Amino acid sequence: MSKGELSILIVDDDVEDILLTENLLREGLKGIALDLHKATSFDTGLRQAETAHHDVCLVDYRLGEKTGLELIQGLRARGVDTPVVVLTCQGDEEVAVQAMKLGAADYLPKFNLSEDLIRAAIRGAIESHEKEMVRLQIEEQLRKMNQKLESWVEELEHQSRDIALLDELGNTLHTCVSSEEAYALITQRVPPFFAGRSGALYMFEGSRGLVEAVVAWGDHPPSHLEFAANECWGLRRGRSYVVWDSRTEIACPHLRGSSWKGHLCVPMMAYGETLGVMVLEAAAPPAPAEEGQTGVAEASRRFAESLTEHLALALANLRLCEALRMQSVRDALTGLFNRRYMEESLERVVSAAGRRHQPLAVLMLDLDHFKEYNDTHGHAAGDAILRELGRLLLSHTRGEDVSCRYGGEEFVLVLPDVVLNVAAMRADQLRSEFKRLVQQHNHAGEASLTLSIGIAIAPEHGLSSKALLEAADAALYLAKKGGRDRVVIAEASGPLGELPAPALVAKVRAWGGKP
Ligand SMILES: [Zn+2]
Repeated sequence: MSKGELSILIVDDDVEDILLTENLLREGLKGIALDLHKATSFDTGLRQAETAHHDVCLVDYRLGEKTGLELIQGLRARGVDTPVVVLTCQGDEEVAVQAMKLGAADYLPKFNLSEDLIRAAIRGAIESHEKEMVRLQIEEQLRKMNQKLESWVEELEHQSRDIALLDELGNTLHTCVSSEEAYALITQRVPPFFAGRSGALYMFEGSRGLVEAVVAWGDHPPSHLEFAANECWGLRRGRSYVVWDSRTEIACPHLRGSSWKGHLCVPMMAYGETLGVMVLEAAAPPAPAEEGQTGVAEASRRFAESLTEHLALALANLRLCEALRMQSVRDALTGLFNRRYMEESLERVVSAAGRRHQPLAVLMLDLDHFKEYNDTHGHAAGDAILRELGRLLLSHTRGEDVSCRYGGEEFVLVLPDVVLNVAAMRADQLRSEFKRLVQQHNHAGEASLTLSIGIAIAPEHGLSSKALLEAADAALYLAKKGGRDRVVIAEASGPLGELPAPALVAKVRAWGGKP
């Protein structure tokens, strides 16, 4: 059929009747270009109607063993909705009623056919068919719109509930005092947002370019607990990366071996810094994606992004606070406590020791010949030695001990509940360990880099932090004076500062080094 032609299929097993119908059509529809097709049996009629488009089918009721009504049923069963006009014989009123019930557009008495009748029937069939098509289209549009509205309403309900929970989570997170506390809270509060979907929160820890899982949830959490930043497209691109179907899209390499169908990686950014990434199992919209459902998937992605933003801000603030706290009590170079912190805690430790009648040792250490070393090798090398000594002190102290960089190359160790002999032994251990370390690192010609240590014990050498520090300092002075690379214990007899130096020297005992 070419454009503008009216295509009509006539199905009749009587060839003469076909000719008659054809003539009537041509007369009745004069001026309209016609594309007429003919079928003389039930089967060919059904096949032609099914395989080619026709505007109308004119079908005789009697088709050999079959009937025009069966043809209508056959067409509808095959999803062909071409309007059908049934040609009936005299006395076939009952047939006409049945035909209309089966969805025929009209019926025409064959014995009484005229040009006018056939024109009216064809026109009526086409018009009502077009109206039906429009009705169906509107119905389909309405159905889609309804579906969309329903998903919007559902989404809005979800969103308002989630926003309330998100606000509450944000407020609670801001009251946390440590990252650990925040992670515990996230473990508890975040999974319910993603009902049935597994996930994990990864944070950059240390400086190796790796993220580590700090929180994971769901039945199938990611199996890789740490991965390099460049294994995640979200981290690489600096914005969220979604994969609805990992069979057809490129999934992040860090999820290799995962049973997830899709995933969403949302980088955690705050103050221009990337803190980590939230990795979520993604629920793919059913294919082909309905508009409303894609909207819901997008909304859940947006929600995940805004949740991640909340978490990032709270965690960044916590890290900042932790860093500030650290800075206020720690020495930046060695990571040991700073002098202020040590003095404050020594005060507390001394009074606690007094209350419990427990001993307490204070060691004052000084790096021998450090100035010369610095002058010869530069400050960077000097700093490296100080850091090394810091590590050594940390590895030789217990949780309750306080190791502190007192200033420059001077260090203080506060050892609660330690008697004199033990303190002296530990001091000498540190002295020889450091010597061994220096030799091991083969700092050529640096044999002079040694430790001098002065020890004071409470209550023998004083009952206040000030007295103990002074006693330890005086003992250290003697160790230096006695030739360095040695441990010296202060003598117990009144405030050391008041004793004349020679008397003090006589009372000093030395460990290690030259006598
Ligand atoms: Zn990723």
